[in-house]
Amino acid sequence: MKELNCDLHIVGGGLTGLLTAYCLSSLGYKIVVTEREKIKLNNKKPTTDTRTTAIAEGSKAFLESQGFWKFIKAFAEPIKNIKVVDKTANSNLDFKNPITKSNLGYIVKNSKLISVLIKQLNKKNNVNFITGSNLNSISYSNSSIISSSNNKKINSKLIIAADGKNSTVRKILGTNFFKKNYNEKALVINFFHEWPHNNIAYEIFLKTGPLAILPMLKERNKNQSALIWSNKPEIVDKIASSDLDNKYIKEMLNEQLYQQVGSVTNINSVQSFPLSAHINERFYDNKTVYVGDAAHSIHPIAGQGWNLGLRDVKSITKLLKKSKERKLEIGSKSFCKTYNDACYYDAYRLYEITDKLDWIFKKDQFYFKFFKKAGFKAINKNKIFKEKIVKFAMGI
Ligand SMILES: Cc1cc2nc3c(=O)[nH]c(=O)nc-3n(C[C@H](O)[C@H](O)[C@H](O)COP(=O)(O)OP(=O)(O)OC[C@H]3O[C@@H](n4cnc5c(N)ncnc54)[C@H](O)[C@@H]3O)c2cc1C
Repeated sequence: MKELNCDLHIVGGGLTGLLTAYCLSSLGYKIVVTEREKIKLNNKKPTTDTRTTAIAEGSKAFLESQGFWKFIKAFAEPIKNIKVVDKTANSNLDFKNPITKSNLGYIVKNSKLISVLIKQLNKKNNVNFITGSNLNSISYSNSSIISSSNNKKINSKLIIAADGKNSTVRKILGTNFFKKNYNEKALVINFFHEWPHNNIAYEIFLKTGPLAILPMLKERNKNQSALIWSNKPEIVDKIASSDLDNKYIKEMLNEQLYQQVGSVTNINSVQSFPLSAHINERFYDNKTVYVGDAAHSIHPIAGQGWNLGLRDVKSITKLLKKSKERKLEIGSKSFCKTYNDACYYDAYRLYEITDKLDWIFKKDQFYFKFFKKAGFKAINKNKIFKEKIVKFAMGI
């Protein structure tokens, strides 16, 4: 079995793992990224994920500071306005950006983010990206953590676990976590439509769960948006397994979307994702830190999951920069705990907020309706409070 030595071993080559490698590469560490799936590294579509990610303005600022935004900018559609429609209580909210010269967020295809990250990492001499490598055990020597996969043994000073919500690293090390199943699936549909979206994102609360319409870049000069609809698994499965030209699906989509974007003219992709949330008891273990979905996953109701992961990337980058400058030991307990303390509260807060938002908007008893209607009215009247909500969503 081939043996490799490095400073940092990043497990998982998803959005978080790849971005972590990109940000840390400029600090001069020797990095190995291992990804379970076999990925063709010069492929334009390295992932089957057809989702889009809403990148908040605050996250964009971080990506800009890392010199990454310039590679993504051309593929990002700005969100200029967010309209919230609560159909369970017949109320509306309209959020505009209080700051000129910035947007509320940006919609980018996940496949684009991944392919641009891989392209940029391929140019870095200190990053070795190994695909088809499924980590299956971890051991320790005095100064290093040793991982073994089907084809490699890797000695490093620190493992950065970015291996998603079902993290193998977490399983092997026995780090505890709390998990919540929503017993729902998210239906994700990218589609062409009749009217321009005018860079408006819609969040529509239905009794069955939230439905978001997100403005995408035009393709072949056609208006395009993404739908993310949380619903009962049986309904989502039925739609997701149907033929894309199915008349019934188009009719059903038109019923939900016509008022916002006109008729659906073509369905480009359909995928579904089971919905759950979790948070690790802590974001570290022996010579290991957890980032992104390996540390926490949240309901996609507010499109904040990866934005939260990005804040982990920011924290670990800052800490490793400081460690390099001051020649501090990386992977020590105090190192890992410092990372944990920088990220944990933020993640726990967002986990709770998104969970409670989903809960409250599904309630349609009269007192809940009354409470929601009164809440929407109060927010609409209070400019300062409204601005605070917008800034929170923008991550600034
Ligand atoms: C429907 C939906 C919509 C969403 N929309 C948004 C949004 O608009 N904005 C937003 O901020 N967030 C959004 N999110 C959340 C966002 O998608 C996730 O937070 C993000 O994809 C997590 O990326 P990650 O790299 O941490 O984990 P993952 O994407 O799960 O990547 C983990 C990687 O690790 C690899 N791996 C697993 N095990 C091993 C192993 N043993 N060895 C090696 N590699 C391994 C996997 O193959 C995978 O490539 C959404 C989520 C859903 C479900």
